[in-house]
Amino acid sequence: MTLDQIKALVRTVHDFPAPGIQFRDVTTLISHGEGLAAAVRHLSERAAASGAAMIAGMEARGFIFGAAVAAQLGLGFIPVRKPGKLPVPTIGVDYALEYGRDRLEIDPGAIRPGERVVIIDDLIATGGTALAATELLRQAGADVSHALFVIDLPDLHGADRLRGAGLTVDALLSYP
Ligand code: IMP
Repeated sequence: MTLDQIKALVRTVHDFPAPGIQFRDVTTLISHGEGLAAAVRHLSERAAASGAAMIAGMEARGFIFGAAVAAQLGLGFIPVRKPGKLPVPTIGVDYALEYGRDRLEIDPGAIRPGERVVIIDDLIATGGTALAATELLRQAGADVSHALFVIDLPDLHGADRLRGAGLTVDALLSYP
């Protein structure tokens, strides 16, 4: 399946979660068996080429694609979680959202120092979520140099922000 065929499976929902926003909805892609497999295959090829030793994915949609890529490559998966979810002592990073703040947490014991961890999420918008995950994984000693997304919204310049933090950024689909 080509990237254009994968793109045709992404649904655009107007005015969600607020008026004027075009929400790119991957639930229609993941409900399509061939589409999900193709997206995971494309991401896996790029993750393998980037020398991934582990995959990290952000709650919640990053878990879907990240864990599937990790399993396809036979690598471990690190869940980057919303606060208060992990049952062990965590490290966390607070970050700004468009309205308000949020926090991501990981189990620092999940990472061996110097290990190359590739970040995967469904979509990059402003890059705030991926930057916070990068900071957190680096705090735990990971070598974070690549981030992969199903969708990039280039007008919001998130990929540029990540590149400024020293990452190589790649996305299967783009919505200019
Ligand atoms: P950022 O932190 O501004 O880059 O936003 C990215 C995060 O918000 C990701 O975890 C996405 O899952 C979520 N997100 C933002 N906009 C959309 C969208 O249009 N569709 C799906 N997820 C989105």
